Amino acid sequence: MRFWFHSVLMGDFVSSSPLCFFFFFSQAGVSRSVAVVTAYLMKANNLSFEEAYAFVQDIKPDAKINEGFEWQLKLYEKMGCEVDVTSPVYKQYRLQKVTEKYPELADLPREVFAADPNNIHQTPSHEVVYKCRKCRRQLFRESSILSHDESKRPATFARKRFSQPVSHDNGGRSNCTSYFIEPVQWMEPALLGVMEGQLLCPKCTLKLGSFHWQGEQCSCGRWVTPAFQIHKSRVDEVRGLSVDLLQAVRK
Ligand SMILES: [Zn+2]
Ligand SMILES: [Zn+2]
Repeated sequence: MRFWFHSVLMGDFVSSSPLCFFFFFSQAGVSRSVAVVTAYLMKANNLSFEEAYAFVQDIKPDAKINEGFEWQLKLYEKMGCEVDVTSPVYKQYRLQKVTEKYPELADLPREVFAADPNNIHQTPSHEVVYKCRKCRRQLFRESSILSHDESKRPATFARKRFSQPVSHDNGGRSNCTSYFIEPVQWMEPALLGVMEGQLLCPKCTLKLGSFHWQGEQCSCGRWVTPAFQIHKSRVDEVRGLSVDLLQAVRK
């Protein structure tokens, strides 16, 4: 832990993997060292962000964390002070960072795209796959769905607020007429070089939804940035096992 803390302070963020994702894309700033100390306290002493930050400010009253770091540390807390690259929260964060980094979107890192379920031969039986309602092509897996009920975003991600109240029953999800997902490999040709457009089924070209790198508002009132939106009415939910059976039956 001591070595790790030292390497973070020295700026060697890659070898200090527990926290590297915070700093990977961030610009150097005065509040970084405060953020590093706060993150260290959270992990080492199992503190919430608020507790750790209050502790730091007790010792050094002028210690300040900017909004961006504050949001990242709250995200870190939400992930249990572990960086879980498979968690939807992390995926959403990474996508937002990619959006900032590639304003022209000339090139997208490969790892941003989820594997195409159509190219995966064995879908685990417990996993739900979503298929085109018209042609039945497999489009994305349940693990690609990103939740959008995170409470707070830093100002850079803030969007116009609409007056219509957000319902909280069922986590607000009952009001969502779309899935917001991470980009899947088959979308790649459609995404490059444009800020928004339609998402069509790669097999039958049924209109499934749309994407907006600048973000889009869900029917529940929340903004998702960037947004890869699939209308629930255009896809069917199928368990992995049934997919295998269906394919076997068709052969
Ligand atoms: Zn289709
Ligand atoms: Zn929604």
